[in-house]
Amino acid sequence: MQLDFLGDLKRTHRNGELRASNEGERVTLMGWVNRRRDLGNLIFIDLRDRTGITQIVFDPDKKDVLEKAAQLRSEFVVAVTGRVKKREGNTINKKIATGEIEVVAEELRILNESKPVPFSPGEPDPAQLPNEEVRLKYRYLDLRRNEMQANIELRHKVALAIRNYLHSQGFFEIETPFMTRSTPEGARDYLVPSRVHPGQFYALPQSPQLFKQILMISGFDKYFQIVRCFRDEDLRADRQPEFTQIDLEMTYPQQESVFAVVEGFLKAAFSAAGVDLPTPFPRMTYDQAMQMYGSDKPDLRLPPMTDVKSAFTPEMMQTLGIAPGLPIVAIRVPKVGELSRKERDEIKPLFGERKDAKLFDDFKRLEKSWPDAVAKIRQLVDVPTSGRHSAEQSSAPTQDDLLVIVAGGAQPAEHKSEGGVKPEVKQHDHAVYNAAGALRVALGQKYAERHKLFAGDRKEASSYRWLWVTDFPMFEYDADGDRWAAAHHPFTSPHERDMPKVLAQQDLGSVRALAYDVVLNGTELGSGSIRIHRQDVQRQIFRALGMTEEEAKSRFGFFLEALEYGTPPHGGIALGLDRIVMILAGAMSLREVIPFPKTAKAVDLMVDAPTPVSEQQLIELDLAFPFDALARCSNCGKKWKIAGHLRTEVGVGKNFQCRACGSETQVVIQDNLSFAAEEG
Ligand code: ASP
Repeated sequence: MQLDFLGDLKRTHRNGELRASNEGERVTLMGWVNRRRDLGNLIFIDLRDRTGITQIVFDPDKKDVLEKAAQLRSEFVVAVTGRVKKREGNTINKKIATGEIEVVAEELRILNESKPVPFSPGEPDPAQLPNEEVRLKYRYLDLRRNEMQANIELRHKVALAIRNYLHSQGFFEIETPFMTRSTPEGARDYLVPSRVHPGQFYALPQSPQLFKQILMISGFDKYFQIVRCFRDEDLRADRQPEFTQIDLEMTYPQQESVFAVVEGFLKAAFSAAGVDLPTPFPRMTYDQAMQMYGSDKPDLRLPPMTDVKSAFTPEMMQTLGIAPGLPIVAIRVPKVGELSRKERDEIKPLFGERKDAKLFDDFKRLEKSWPDAVAKIRQLVDVPTSGRHSAEQSSAPTQDDLLVIVAGGAQPAEHKSEGGVKPEVKQHDHAVYNAAGALRVALGQKYAERHKLFAGDRKEASSYRWLWVTDFPMFEYDADGDRWAAAHHPFTSPHERDMPKVLAQQDLGSVRALAYDVVLNGTELGSGSIRIHRQDVQRQIFRALGMTEEEAKSRFGFFLEALEYGTPPHGGIALGLDRIVMILAGAMSLREVIPFPKTAKAVDLMVDAPTPVSEQQLIELDLAFPFDALARCSNCGKKWKIAGHLRTEVGVGKNFQCRACGSETQVVIQDNLSFAAEEG
C-alpha cells in the first residue's frame, strides 16, 4: 500500500473536541480508524484518539478520496481534512460528545497501516475481549482501549494531585537509588550482579526506608517520592514484583502530624477522581481492632463483633466445650434472611477445622437448650425481638440478620508474650479473635448480594470507610525460629512508656510501637511509624531481635553510623499508589491500572521477560559455573576430560580433535568424570 507522509500537516482539533458550534469549519483530525462502514458510495469511519471519536464521511463529491478510503481498515492511522457538518435528526449520536457533528472528508492521508488486530481496541463490550494473556501480550493495543486510557489518565491525575499537595506542604521530591543494598522490610530481594566487582550484588530496594531516614539526618526536613519498590515475594493475585509507593518522611513529627499529611494528600487524590473525602479519618488502636473486628485491618462497612461472654454461664461453657478463659464473640451479618439447611452447612467450611476456636452457627438449637442465654446474646448485639425493618442505618440490627458465635476451643499453653498489663488483647485471645474476624469477612463477602454494604457508589465518599490503626505490637514472636521479630521493621520506635521493657528485655510481646496503618474498606493501604532516632535505643532493639552487634553492623552499619551524627526525631509512612488508583478506577486487579504489569507468575508477556541471557554475559558477571565434559575418540577410543565454565565453552556437541590420534570426534556430557580421563 502507498502510504502518505505527515509532512507539515497539523492537527486543528482532537477527536473528542468538535461540537455543533464548529459547524462549517475546515478541520484536520488525526487518529486510528476505530470502525469503518462501507456503503459503497458512502464510507463512514470513526476516527479515534485519546480524547474521543469523530465520525468522518467520505462521499462521491470527492471520488478519489472515497476510493482511497475504501482501503482503510481497523487501526490504520490517518489524517483527514474536511468540513464540520451538523448531523440531521435521527443520525445524531447522543452517546458520544461529538455526536452532533461529522466531518465530511476532502483530503485523506494514510499515514500507516495495521495488520489485522488480534482484538479491537474499539470494542465497546468487555465480554468480547480476549483472555488477559492476549491483552498483556498486545498491551499496546489493550492500552488503546477507552477503559485503559481512562485508568492511566486517572493514575496520572492522582499522582499529580498528590505531588501538588505535598509540594504545597513543603515536601521535596527526592530520588533515591535503585541499585543499593538490602533494606529492612524483610521480603526477598531482587539482586543485580556487579560486573566490576565479581561475585558481588546490588539489591533493588524493597523501599527507600533507610535513604529517607538519612535524608532527615541530611536536613531535608520533609521528603516524599512516588517511587518504584521491588519485592521478590510469592505472588498473590493482587501483588506485583515491582509496585509504586507514595513514600514520605518528616522531622519532629507526632503520629498526628503524619496522619494529617496523609489525609491531606488522599483528599487531594480522591478529589482528582471526583470524590470529596471527609477528614480526619477515625482512629482505633490495634487492640480495639482485634477485639471488635478480629483483624488489624477492619472493614468498617460490616458491623463490629460483640463480646457476648456475659451471656454464658460456667455450666453452659462446660457443656459446649468452650474454654472459659478466652473471648466469646457474636458476628452479625445484616439482612441475610432465613438460611436453608444447605446454606447453613456452607458456613462451617468458611470457618475451617480448628482446635483453638469453635463455631456455633445454629442459633435455633442453642435457643432450645438455653433460651435465656440466647435472649441475652440478642440483647447484647441489640437485635430486637420483634422485627425491625430499617428505615434507619442500613446496618442497624434486624431479625433478618445472621448471627453466629465464635468461642475459644482448648485453652492454649502459656504464651511467651503473656504477662504485662498492656496490651489488653493477649496472644491467647488472638486465635479466637482472628478466627472470628476471618469468618466475619468471609460471611460478609458470601452474602454481599443480600446486605449490599459493599455496593456503594464509587463517586460517593460514604463508600470509602477509612481508618487509622495505631499502637501495633512492636515485636512478633516467631515460634519456628524461637525468637522475636520486628512487627513493622527494626527502625520503628517503641512507645516511650514501654521502653523500660525493651531495656530489661522483658515481656516483649506487650511492647507497643509507634506504628500505624491506614486502612480502607478492610484493605491496608499503607503503613509507617515514628522512627528510632537514638543510637542507644536502636542498639537495644537489635539486641531484643537477637541480632549481634556484628550482624547489625554488617547489615546496617552505614545507617547506625549516620544515627550517631545528630539525628533529629523523624517518622513517615508509605502508601501503595497502585491500589489507590485501582480502587478509584473501580478495577478488579492492579494490572488494570499499571501500564505494563507482570502476570501472577511475575512474567511480562509483552517484552517476554525474564529471559535467559547470553553465556558471554554470564561469564562477564562471573555467574558462569564450572562445567566438565567428556570427549571419547571414536577412532582410537581415548577419553579426554575438558573443563570450562559453560557448556559452549567446553563445546558439548561440537567436534573435537583427538590429541592422541588427531581424528575428529564429538564432545559428550558425562556426569561422573571420576573414571580415568587421559588429560585434564
Ligand atoms: N518502608 C515501609 C514500608 O515500605 C514504610 C515506612 O515505614 O515508611 O512498608
